[in-house]
Amino acid sequence: MNVVTCIQNTIKANINLIVDTIWVNNSIMNEITLMNFKRISYFSVIGMIVNLTSIVVLNLNAEIEDQILMEWRKGIIISHSVLFIIFAVTGIWCFLIREKEKANFSMRFIQGFININTFIFGTIITFIDQLVTTNITPFLVACTITGAVFLMRPVFALILYLAAYAGFHYTIGLAQLSPIILLSDRINAITAIGIGFCISLIMWQTNKSSIIQKRVISTQQEVLEQSNLKLQTLAFYDSLTGLYSRRKFEELLQSEIYDILHHEHESCLIISDIDFFKEINDNYGHPIGDMVIKQMASLLKKNVRKTDSVARWGGDEFLILLPHTSTVEGTEIAEKLRKTIEKKAFFIKEKDIQVTSSFGVAGLKIDTTDTLEFAYKDADKALYSAKEKGRNRVETA
Ligand code: GH3
Ligand code: MG
Repeated sequence: MNVVTCIQNTIKANINLIVDTIWVNNSIMNEITLMNFKRISYFSVIGMIVNLTSIVVLNLNAEIEDQILMEWRKGIIISHSVLFIIFAVTGIWCFLIREKEKANFSMRFIQGFININTFIFGTIITFIDQLVTTNITPFLVACTITGAVFLMRPVFALILYLAAYAGFHYTIGLAQLSPIILLSDRINAITAIGIGFCISLIMWQTNKSSIIQKRVISTQQEVLEQSNLKLQTLAFYDSLTGLYSRRKFEELLQSEIYDILHHEHESCLIISDIDFFKEINDNYGHPIGDMVIKQMASLLKKNVRKTDSVARWGGDEFLILLPHTSTVEGTEIAEKLRKTIEKKAFFIKEKDIQVTSSFGVAGLKIDTTDTLEFAYKDADKALYSAKEKGRNRVETA
C-alpha cells in the first residue's frame, strides 16, 4: 500500500466517522426519544423543586430595600414561577405517556421545545442577573444541563448550541453596559457552549453504543433460543414420523412410574412391531418402507387418547404408554389397534400394501419397583410370544 492510498483510506475512515456521528443512525432515534422522555420527566421533578426552593429563599429575604435588588428579585421570582409551570405541565405530560413504545411527532416536538426553553431561561436569568452580578452562571448551567440530560443527534446539538450562543450574544449586549465585562461574558459563553456541546457528544456516543449493543445482544438471544428449540426438537422427536423419540419416551415413562408409586394407579405399556417389514422393504424398496412407517405412526397416534404417548423405539417398532389404564384395558386397546391396522389399506405410490402388526402388552403396577427396563422387558417378552404364535396378534405379559 503506497502513501497516497494510506492517506486516502485515513481520510475516508474519518469522513465516515464524522458522517456517522452527525447524520446516520436514524433507526435508533425512536429509542433516543423515549429515553429523553424518561429523562425529561425526572428533570421536570427536580426542576420544580429547584424553582420552588429558589422562590421560597427569595421570599425569605423580602426585606431588601434597594431598588435594583428588588427589581432583580422580582425578575428572578417571575422567571422561576414560569419555569415551575412549564416543568409541571411537561412533567405530567411525560408521566402520562411514559409507557409508549413508539415515539411520535408531538413527543419530538416537546423534546425540542424543552431544549430551546432551557437555553431561553438560562439567557433570561443571566440577563436579569446582570443587575447584581457580572457572571453568567445560569447560561453555563443551561449549556451543561442540555448536554447532559437531552440526547441529541450531534448535528442538531451543534445547530442548537450555535443558535443559543447567537441569542446570548445579542441579549447580553442589551443588559451589560460595561464593554470589558460584556466581552468577558461573551468569551465565557463561548467556553460554556464548548463544554455543553462536548458533554452532548459524549452522551450521544455512549448511549448510541449501548442501544446498538443491546440490539445485538437481543438478536443473539433470539438466535440462541431458536437453535435451542431446534436442538430440543431433534432430541425429543423422531425425524421420520414426528413421534416422541426414544429419549423423550424414557423421560415420560420414568415420570409415569414415579406417578404410579405415589398415587397408586395402574398404567400400561404396549409394544407394537410391524410383521415381516423386511419383506416390504425388499419388495417395494426402502423409501416405500419409510412411508409405511410414517402411515403406521399416524394411525397409532390417531387411535389412542390425547393423554397417551406414542414413540418410535427404532426401525418398525413403536411404544405406547397408556396412563391410568389396567392391563385388561390395555390389551383391549392393543386389539383394537391390531384390527384397525389389519383393515387399513396402505396405498402408497399406487401400490396396495397389506400390513399387519404384532403387539406385546405389560402393566406398570402399584407397589412395585418397576423400572423402565423391567416394564420394557415384560412387554417385549409378550411381543416375542405374539410373533412366535404366528404374528398379527396381541399377547399380554
Ligand atoms: P418380524 O415380523 O419378525 O418383525 O419381521 P421383520 O421383517 O419386521 O423383522 P424386524 O422387525 O426385525 O425388521 C425390521 C426391519 O426394518 C429391519 C430394517 O431393515 C428395517 N428398518 C429399520 N429402520 C428402518 C427405516 O427407518 N426405514 C425402513 N424403510 N426400514 C427400516
Ligand atoms: Mg418387524
